[in-house]
Amino acid sequence: MAGREGRLLGGIEAGGTKFICAVGPDPLTIEAQIRIPTTTPDETIAAAIRFFSEAGGGHLPNAIGIASFGPVALDKADPEWGHILATTKPGWSQTDLAGAFAQEFGVPVAFETDVNGAALGELRHGAGIGLQHLAYVTVGTGIGGGIIDDGQLIQGRTHPEIGHIRPRRHRLDLEFPGSCPFHGDCLEGLASGSAIMQRFGAPLHELPADHPMWLIEPYYLAQLAAMLVLSVSPQRIVFGGGVLAAEGLLDRVGPLLTDELAGYISGIGAEIASGRLLAPPGLGSRSGITGALVLAEAALA
Ligand code: ZN
Repeated sequence: MAGREGRLLGGIEAGGTKFICAVGPDPLTIEAQIRIPTTTPDETIAAAIRFFSEAGGGHLPNAIGIASFGPVALDKADPEWGHILATTKPGWSQTDLAGAFAQEFGVPVAFETDVNGAALGELRHGAGIGLQHLAYVTVGTGIGGGIIDDGQLIQGRTHPEIGHIRPRRHRLDLEFPGSCPFHGDCLEGLASGSAIMQRFGAPLHELPADHPMWLIEPYYLAQLAAMLVLSVSPQRIVFGGGVLAAEGLLDRVGPLLTDELAGYISGIGAEIASGRLLAPPGLGSRSGITGALVLAEAALA
């Protein structure tokens, strides 16, 4: 690495519609970044490799962190580690995403889910600074979440899939069958951006303030928050994703969460009311790419 002082980290936020790739000396200092449309694996990965080959001005990344759409194989003992598994994204099932970069650059490659990456980014550099127990939820085209317990991502037999729990239906939302191809009216099937579009043909932020979806959406998100509080007891739940861009939505979730918990968890009402328990991403839309760079940094340690 002659000519360059110190290290260069590479990060990839691999999404179903776009790959964001970035390089920098640390997770908060991005020197170059590119947005690549997610087309075929060959085309998209080749464009990302081209970026990392050129972005450092002749200096290649010392490690690459990938926060990927899924489902993905995260068990290092699994021969499929680093692959995207059976996905609804055409052409991407069984893509060896981590392997492509490891083979090309011969450097450590860290691999996580997109939401796990975002959770790590928020823990280290965003709304979770100083905390040990954090949940990150994204409500966008789909719904997913990453959970950090005692500073570590929860990783069981596979990554958690909290978007697919089944909530109690809102009384104004008894007809819609739900949009999840697997479960119908699971949380993602009722409260994701796609589910809102399927019902009303517009995103939440375009629906008028007196539209029933403004009652329905926070009702479901409050149930997700209650499930997280009751099962993994996070110090903070960060809500990100395109649907949360609807102004005032998160403010509506807090009182419904308080109702949902019904005084059962001591002291939590004050945390909810003060905005300490439910929070927007401290990194804005950069949680994912920051997390990918945190993963790269950790891979060098
Ligand atoms: Zn589902």
